[in-house]
Amino acid sequence: MSKIFCPNCYCEFEIQPEKCECGYPFNGNDMDKYKFMSTLVKKERILQDGINSASYSRNILFIIGGLNLLISLIFALSAKDNSYYLITMIYSVILIGLGFYSYKEPFFALLLGFLVMILIYTVIGFIDPAKLLSGLILKVFFVSSFIYGLVKIKQSENIEKNI
Ligand SMILES: [Zn+2]
Repeated sequence: MSKIFCPNCYCEFEIQPEKCECGYPFNGNDMDKYKFMSTLVKKERILQDGINSASYSRNILFIIGGLNLLISLIFALSAKDNSYYLITMIYSVILIGLGFYSYKEPFFALLLGFLVMILIYTVIGFIDPAKLLSGLILKVFFVSSFIYGLVKIKQSENIEKNI
């Protein structure tokens, strides 16, 4: 007698079970099987989206943190009053740190990074509105893609929990 393989997880069975451990409905009709497989594909896509969004948002943190750190270091070395640059440096280091932390806790770390960015933009806006307006389109783009990314990451974390 030939063995039976699950077309989804490739589990091997001597006798065809009603359902595979992975949930594949051996006893279901074609529609059930199709539904099972297409939900899996959908879940797979959301998971992949989550991973992509996490690495994208992480890169934004690294780039913004890295650039700000570099620029503020250069300015701090040449400026007389470098307290402003010190704050930027601390903020940049926090962003970079959260970027690394996001390898462990993607949603939480990136949400914090996002809030820190918003906070800094708000503070800058109060101190020097002109500074906030410089590169505004880029900032809006970063912030909105960050929100979009966070939604994707949350969706994918929800699915991971249900597997
Ligand atoms: Zn299976």
